[in-house]
Amino acid sequence: MSNDETVKPDALAGPVTLPQRPKLLIVDDQPLNVQTLYQVFHDHCEVIVATSGARALELAEEQQPDLVLLDVVMPEMDGFEVCRRLKADGSTKEIPILFVTAQDNPEDETRGLELGAVDFITKPINPAVVKARVRTQLTLKAQADFLRSLAFLDGLTGIPNRRHFNQRLDSEWRACQRSGRPLSLIMIDVDYFKFYNDHYGHESGDDCLKSVARALRQLASRGRDLVARFGGEEFVALLPECDLEGAREMAENIRAAIESMAVTHEASHVSGVVTASVGAAVTVPREGNQPRALLAAADQQLYAAKRDGRNRVAAQQLDDAPPAA
Ligand code: GH3
Ligand code: MG
Ligand code: MG
Repeated sequence: MSNDETVKPDALAGPVTLPQRPKLLIVDDQPLNVQTLYQVFHDHCEVIVATSGARALELAEEQQPDLVLLDVVMPEMDGFEVCRRLKADGSTKEIPILFVTAQDNPEDETRGLELGAVDFITKPINPAVVKARVRTQLTLKAQADFLRSLAFLDGLTGIPNRRHFNQRLDSEWRACQRSGRPLSLIMIDVDYFKFYNDHYGHESGDDCLKSVARALRQLASRGRDLVARFGGEEFVALLPECDLEGAREMAENIRAAIESMAVTHEASHVSGVVTASVGAAVTVPREGNQPRALLAAADQQLYAAKRDGRNRVAAQQLDDAPPAA
């Protein structure tokens, strides 16, 4: 995930706004109909076009439009079948579908709605009506996207939560397995944080965790890097295609960034400021080894960093992986 997927904590309370240029997929085998709809929407939306059902399925998956305007009658694969397939596929099932049809009959309309479409519009197109209905559906989609995103964000810090991390660990594991590239996982645990809470109070503790999250977010800037709150005062960073050397460097950068926040911690036994211990583990994912082995290895390294004095980094390449290229 890129960092712009993370929502700032303030955004959690804000109103839901429509994306600047929502993406519309128009599906119709008649170029004239496509042209008409294109004219209605191209000022305010990014419009993509498919003139067959098969192409519509491809584009929907690749482009993840915010809404599909779908013709019912098309040769080869008709609109109902396209709708059924979009709704059956996990990656496209949340995209709202609006049927656009020349036949105004209740049977078709019922069938379309039963297949999961959100609305029906009849041809010939009335631009004002189509615009209004599309706008309503885009608003509902934006609200639904926002609620879905909340389920994957940590409520305190606004960065991705453990559920999000687990999903990404699984998908990056598979991606690195296919590409034969290393996957690095870094665990970060704030030192003597119980004492921090005891000394400064739980609310100051919360503020401290927010600062740590902010510092981490700034560091993990490469496109597929992910930082998340693992739980309590523990955070994780997932770094696809990053070898042992890179992971060690990132772990040290994380450690240094937290120290240089210079948040006073008088009750710490290792420093006058808030620090963290960091454990990193790297492997080239293969059949037969598991993401949880990587997680366990990073946790072991974190434990070693704690045991060796805290405010330090420990890193390990898993045994069964070949040396980093
Ligand atoms: P160590 O250096 O060994 O990691 O010691 P520690 O005190 O950091 O570790 P320990 O696991 O004993 O304590 C973790 C503390 O983190 C205890 C818990 O109250 C605090 N904590 C966990 N989640 C939150 C939170 O959301 N907000 C605040 N303020 N504190 C939290
Ligand atoms: Mg802990
Ligand atoms: Mg701790």
